[in-house]
Amino acid sequence: MSTAILTIDLDAIVANWRALDAMTEGETAAVVKADAYGLGLTRVARALARAGARSFFVAVAEEGAALREALGPGPTIYVFSGHMRGDADMIGDMDLVPMINSLDQLIRHVEALPDQPFGIQLDSGMNRLGMEPGEWAAVRQIAMAQKPRLIMSHLACADEPEHAMNPQQLAAFLEMTDDIDVPRSFANTGAILLDEAYHFDLSRPGIGVYGGRPFVDARPVVTLDIPVIQCRDLSAGETVGYGNSFTASRDTRIATISGGYADGIIRAMGPKTVLWAEDTPCPIAGRISMDLIGVDITDLGYDPKTLELLGRHQCIDTLADNAGTIGYEILTSLGARYMRRYLGG
Ligand SMILES: *Cc1c(COP(=O)(O)O)cnc(C)c1O
Repeated sequence: MSTAILTIDLDAIVANWRALDAMTEGETAAVVKADAYGLGLTRVARALARAGARSFFVAVAEEGAALREALGPGPTIYVFSGHMRGDADMIGDMDLVPMINSLDQLIRHVEALPDQPFGIQLDSGMNRLGMEPGEWAAVRQIAMAQKPRLIMSHLACADEPEHAMNPQQLAAFLEMTDDIDVPRSFANTGAILLDEAYHFDLSRPGIGVYGGRPFVDARPVVTLDIPVIQCRDLSAGETVGYGNSFTASRDTRIATISGGYADGIIRAMGPKTVLWAEDTPCPIAGRISMDLIGVDITDLGYDPKTLELLGRHQCIDTLADNAGTIGYEILTSLGARYMRRYLGG
C-alpha cells in the first residue's frame, strides 16, 4: 500500500477542548466548520459531544445539516453565514440556529421560520460578517422582540495579544450589547487566551482544539506517515526532481515518498522542511511534486518504510512557518487521499 496514513488523535482533541473550557467561566462551544478543520466532522463532533460540548458552530447550513445527522437531536448548531436564500427548509428540518447578519436575513428568517431560534452577529470592526453599529441601532428593537438566543462578534487580531484592535473591538461590542439581556459570544481561541474580559457567556475555539497556535500548550492532534516507494543512490553532481533544484554535493541516497502538493503538502514548504525517520531529520531534496517528494536519507544509514511529516517532532505550525502560511491552512489542506485513522474518542 502506498497511501499515506493520517492519524487523528481524538483524545488529544478532547483534552485540548477541555483545557480551553477550563480557562473560562462560561460555556465552551466547538467550531467544526470546514469538516472540523479538515479532520473529519462526524468523528470529531461526536467525540466532543461525548466530552460534554453542547454547542457547535459551522460556516454554512449544509455543514449544519451534516452535523445534525452526525449528532442527532440535542446539541445547538449555530451557522455563521446566517439565513441565506434557500436555507429555510434545512434550517427548520435540521434545527439549526442561523447567526443573522443583516436586516434582510432577519426578515427572511422570521417570515419563513417564526418559531425557529436564531442569533445575531455584529460587526465590531473586522468588516467581514455581521451588522454594523448603525444597522444594529436601526434593527435592534425588531430583533430583540423576536428574542435572539445569542449575540456574537469576532476579533480580527486575537492571535496578537498586544494589538490595539482587540480592546477597540471589545469596546465596540460592549457598546452595542451592554444593556441587552441575551447571552453573548466573542472569543475564538486567541481571545480565550487574551483575558477574561473577552470571554463572555460562550466561547468559540477552533484551532486550539485541533492543536494549533496560538494555543501553544495544546496537545498535538495529527500524525502523517508517508510510505517510501523507492530508494536510489546518486553520485555527486546528479540532480533530483523537476527543475533540477537539488544537486547532490556528495554520494547521496534519496527516498521517494508517496505524497505531494495534491495532498496538501504545500510546494512552498519544500526548501525548509524535513521528514523524520524515528529521531533523525531527513531534508526534502528538490521540488515537491504533485504526488511525490524526494527525501535525502544519506545520513540515516538505512532505508525507512515510511517517513513522518507531522507528529512528535514536527507540528502544523512548523510546516506553516516553512510554507509562509498558518496552521489553519495546513490542516484544512490535508488531502482526501490519505487513509485516516482515529485514535481514542
Ligand atoms: C473560525 C471561527 C472561529 C474559531 O476561530 P479559531 O481561531 O480557530 O479559534 C470563531 N468564530 C468565528 C466567527 C470563526 O469564523
